[in-house]
Amino acid sequence: MSRHETVIGLEIHAQLKTESKIFCSCSTRFGGEPNENTCPVCFGMPGVLPVLNKKAVEYGIKMALAVDCRINSRSIFARKNYFYPDLPKGYQISQYEEPLAEHGRISILSGDGEKVIGITRIHMEEDAGKSIHSSTENVSYVDLNRTGVPLLEIVSEPDMRTPREAVAYLKALRGILLYLEICDGNMEEGSFRCDANVSIRPRGQEEYGTRTEIKNMNSFRHVQKALEYEVGRQIDLVEDGEKVVQETRLFDVEKGVTRSMRGKEEAHDYRYFPDPDLTPLIIDPDWVEILRADLPELPIARQKRFVSDYSLPDADALVLTSEKDLADFFETAVAEYNQPKKICNWIMGELLGKLNERGLSISGAKITPGQLAALVRLVDEDKISGKIAKQVFVEVFDKGIDPEKVVEEKGLVQISDSSALEAVVDEVLGAHPDEVQRYKDGQKKLLGFFVGRIIKETKGQANPGVVNKIRSRKLG
Ligand code: ADP
Ligand code: MG
Ligand code: ZN
Repeated sequence: MSRHETVIGLEIHAQLKTESKIFCSCSTRFGGEPNENTCPVCFGMPGVLPVLNKKAVEYGIKMALAVDCRINSRSIFARKNYFYPDLPKGYQISQYEEPLAEHGRISILSGDGEKVIGITRIHMEEDAGKSIHSSTENVSYVDLNRTGVPLLEIVSEPDMRTPREAVAYLKALRGILLYLEICDGNMEEGSFRCDANVSIRPRGQEEYGTRTEIKNMNSFRHVQKALEYEVGRQIDLVEDGEKVVQETRLFDVEKGVTRSMRGKEEAHDYRYFPDPDLTPLIIDPDWVEILRADLPELPIARQKRFVSDYSLPDADALVLTSEKDLADFFETAVAEYNQPKKICNWIMGELLGKLNERGLSISGAKITPGQLAALVRLVDEDKISGKIAKQVFVEVFDKGIDPEKVVEEKGLVQISDSSALEAVVDEVLGAHPDEVQRYKDGQKKLLGFFVGRIIKETKGQANPGVVNKIRSRKLG
């Protein structure tokens, strides 16, 4: 074990799925023409006023409740001043001294059991625009479509001790956002982004070491790799008698290394002050209670229920409940055909495997829960063999056709009829008299050879149980 302990704290930005922006009525829709979804508020024109979007606040409160935060009945929007071409106002509206919510916690499971990670605060802010630097002309453009899209910033306590824990925390938070249906969680498109603060300290020391902050990681794998690299870099520095410098670093995906981007800015560099255009945000406790009563079942609770209701192993329940859509898929399939473990195995094996291979998420798949249930039933009722079922699955997955139909159209029904199979067995045995003799002389391992031939003759459709009975009657 290393004599250094790793300390990680994460700042997450989650884009909220509201129809309109946080301070104006522009659409939050993506993919339009540059600057299509903008107005004088987005451009920060003089004389226009921001108006807070109530839906964004509602989403913020839901998230805060889901991670056990205390909701502040009064919070303040502040101006965070900095210059950047994608920020025409010269400041970002955020919350600083009095955020929406504080003092929360979340349970994570990272292989070493359950662990609680503290949530320092959750605040609301607006997103900035986007600079586009042309690769052909010597020119840059600014697209303000994203300006004013509502964000939740979720700041953790420095409670994580390994990159793996950090990833487990991220997955848990993303899961909650998806269950609440307030963020689409797409890391590649930036609707769920994370800055990781990391430091090391000698084991047993209470005081934290100097931290660096890593940006630009747009997948769980990148977070893990960036953190692993950065921890190694800091340990090497310290072992060489040097010091870690507090700074912001970028993850270079190609090379798998972090690189210094800029010295760490301090809060006072931003000259935060309350935005005079926005009144304090006062939250009615009755409204909070209404939202609390309306919270859906959250991932951890659902996971525990999957273990108790369906007798699934912890690990399976964790995978199934990691995405709401996947958990819904499973439960719908089980409602059609009550074989939870078998359905779970198909989801964890074939279904997730294919989704992965095709780069799809469950919501983009053509196969329905009913079709998966029907497929499992076909195997259970001996209509098709397990081997053929995998073949049928691919058809159902790719085309969304009912498995019964695939089986019928392709003539894949399992052959369980004894007389038909007996003919095949006779044929195979008749064609290999030498092997039959050797088998009878004691070379019992030839059994696999015969069964293989019989199954092959029937294109995998022979019912293995029936084949075995006939074979043992004929061969012994
Ligand atoms: P800032 O807003 O300037 O980035 P904060 O104090 O809000 O600074 O902390 C940001 C994040 O850094 C939090 O998630 C916190 O847990 C984490 N953090 C603070 N100190 C350390 C440290 N020494 N090592 C690792 N993470 C840290
Ligand atoms: Mg920070
Ligand atoms: Zn606007």
